[in-house]
Amino acid sequence: MDNCLFCKIVAGEIPADIVYQDHDVLAFRDIHPQAPQHILIVPRRHIPSMADLTLEDSSVLARIFMTGARLARDLGLENGYRFVTNVGPDAGQSVLHLHFHLLGGRRLGWPPG
Ligand code: AMP
Repeated sequence: MDNCLFCKIVAGEIPADIVYQDHDVLAFRDIHPQAPQHILIVPRRHIPSMADLTLEDSSVLARIFMTGARLARDLGLENGYRFVTNVGPDAGQSVLHLHFHLLGGRRLGWPPG
């Protein structure tokens, strides 16, 4: 997808601090971390947001969640963590390529702002 920041990271055209990758997904550190551990997990294939998911995306979505759980274990987030996706302007989605934020390493407030 032309002009998609995360597609460019997936393609290796923009550098990122990659912590995990496989055939379907890429995980890299957020450039503006909001917690001691802040990882973004994205599908390699361009999907604009959660609102665009179809049944065909089931397996990649499962892979994203399993990757989040594995990274949380590997990063030592045994006290807990948050796994969230923002959809649309009211939620503050700033990159139109589906991504989940894995946040942990501090006490996270609820409800989020
Ligand atoms: P959202 O606001 O939910 O769309 O999340 C987009 C996230 O992407 C933000 O937390 C940004 O800090 C992060 N971000 C933007 N550019 C980059 C980049 N080049 N590398 C890593 N993370 C980025």
